Amino acid sequence: MLINGKCHCGNIAFSLAWEPDPKEIPARACDCTFCRKHGGVWTSNPSGALQVRIQDASKISKYTFGTGTAEFQICARCGIVPVVTSRIDGRLYAVVSVNAFENVEASLLNRAPASFGAEETGSRLARRKRSWIPDVVFR
Ligand SMILES: [Zn+2]
Repeated sequence: MLINGKCHCGNIAFSLAWEPDPKEIPARACDCTFCRKHGGVWTSNPSGALQVRIQDASKISKYTFGTGTAEFQICARCGIVPVVTSRIDGRLYAVVSVNAFENVEASLLNRAPASFGAEETGSRLARRKRSWIPDVVFR
């Protein structure tokens, strides 16, 4: 399955290749202080491949907080956050927002609360290496 998503204005668009076709897509409603304020719900596939397409890079705001290990890619034109990235040991990992999906039936999403606030940085990065999308291309 090729999942397409974008911010509201289209400045940040992505395609996520998810093979084989998912029977359900985990959707993690993150309870961190940032995601609580914008309703962040994320998914990833450790065998997926993500292509992110940026129209105007000058209208991307990159926001980091807390451990400073994840970068929220915020569209500065419309305010949507379609992608979060984390560079670990030289490799770029990502999760995508299920709220930015364009072509996925809502019934495929398995929404559940997620809480990572208690993690130490080392175990946080190890979890991302296990579960985030490890094949990320920006163009
Ligand atoms: Zn936008």
